[in-house]
Amino acid sequence: MSSKIQAVKGMNDLLPTAQKDWPIDSAFWQAFEREAARWMKDYAYRFIRTPMIEPTALFVRSIGEETDVVGKEMYTFDDYGESLSLRPEGTASCLRAVVEHNLLYNAPQKLWYMGAMFRHEKPQKGRYRQFHQLGVEALGFAGADTDAEIIAMCADLWQRLGILDCVQLELNCLGNRDERAAHRAALVAYLQQHEAILDEDGKRRLHTNPLRVLDTKNPALQDMANNAPRLLDFLGEDSRHHYAALKNLLNALGIAFVENPRLVRGLDYYNATVFEWTTDKLGAQGTICGGGRYDGLIEELGGKPTPSIGFAMGIERLLLLVHEHGCLQTDAAPEVYAMYQGDAAAAALLQAAQSLRAAGFAVLTHGSNQKLATQFKKADACGARFGLIVGESEAAADEVTLKDLRGEHGQVTVPAAQAVLQLQQWKA
Ligand code: ATP
Ligand code: MG
Repeated sequence: MSSKIQAVKGMNDLLPTAQKDWPIDSAFWQAFEREAARWMKDYAYRFIRTPMIEPTALFVRSIGEETDVVGKEMYTFDDYGESLSLRPEGTASCLRAVVEHNLLYNAPQKLWYMGAMFRHEKPQKGRYRQFHQLGVEALGFAGADTDAEIIAMCADLWQRLGILDCVQLELNCLGNRDERAAHRAALVAYLQQHEAILDEDGKRRLHTNPLRVLDTKNPALQDMANNAPRLLDFLGEDSRHHYAALKNLLNALGIAFVENPRLVRGLDYYNATVFEWTTDKLGAQGTICGGGRYDGLIEELGGKPTPSIGFAMGIERLLLLVHEHGCLQTDAAPEVYAMYQGDAAAAALLQAAQSLRAAGFAVLTHGSNQKLATQFKKADACGARFGLIVGESEAAADEVTLKDLRGEHGQVTVPAAQAVLQLQQWKA
């Protein structure tokens, strides 16, 4: 026997049955996708799908060369002379498409996407090399009202999934480019005074991404980080006003938040509002959703200046949380398990199953012609509510036998044409 080939580390299969190390099965995932599509429809966001591979330049220009994502996490390869990358996130691709197809020509756009993203990270619980995000982008909206609605949308989804109590909203304002530059100069000067105590990451980021130094988890650096110059103190009138308006709206909507002046996010394109939804129930990988404004990004990608805001959630992390603490109705089990006895009954069985499906019943046929007792065991194991049985005598008489596998209605043999009606009555 040849050796088995295994999946790439950090890239997971989604299977019909839950596994010891991965409690999410495909029915649960699909139930989420359905719930998410309903939720997006309620807010009139429209779906967009872009390729999983883009020119590397797109991510370098939008996410930023010095970020961890572009600097060390991207899957980049040479495609006959052109550098391409597997997308590490969705916003850059979405905006590339919007600019390329001139979607903002005469109206703002509210868009959403869902799909696989790729980052070469160290795989661990909640951190994978292929993971999935659902994201939204509100393009062409400058006001704090859109920021508030975007955040309220998340809260609504958490509510629908039964995890609102498990998450916390962190909020910050990053100001505009000039405000950040003034703060950055002050921050670099401050960090240089403390260079001796910085760890390796800190020293590397001091000049490339000093805000990220403050994001350190290193306990020895917390005092230094806490006393660093705060971006909030460098904000001008407009930024402060936008931030205050957002906080007022969130208060009016009853959405609790914690201000975190050190929240910076890992991608370079953010300005003004940034936020993260975190939980303490998933261990170290506690951020389930992050977002913010990127007012300059569309222009950066060759479009007209278009103030915009969006977020992305990590579906794996979210579903781990929902699985343990929330609620999500799945409909994994077929309603009807169809079995037959004798080759002469096969056609009648298949026909009966088809007419039940046409009436909206999900029917699982078991192809093999096994002993009825064995088939009933399988019917029970798969969770079906009803059994449909066709033996040779029933086939000859154009009849079928229906059995309520939970016992409530017993078992009857009826003309095949009445099977739908009978099951509808039992189900009601
Ligand atoms: P983290 O700080 O956990 O690395 P991030 O800031 O890199 O997250 P974003 O780029 O903002 O993450 O992506 C949005 C969301 O996507 C995250 O909040 C998280 O839920 C999810 N996510 C990001 N990277 C991964 C990954 N490698 N595996 C699983 N989910 C991820
Ligand atoms: Mg990351």
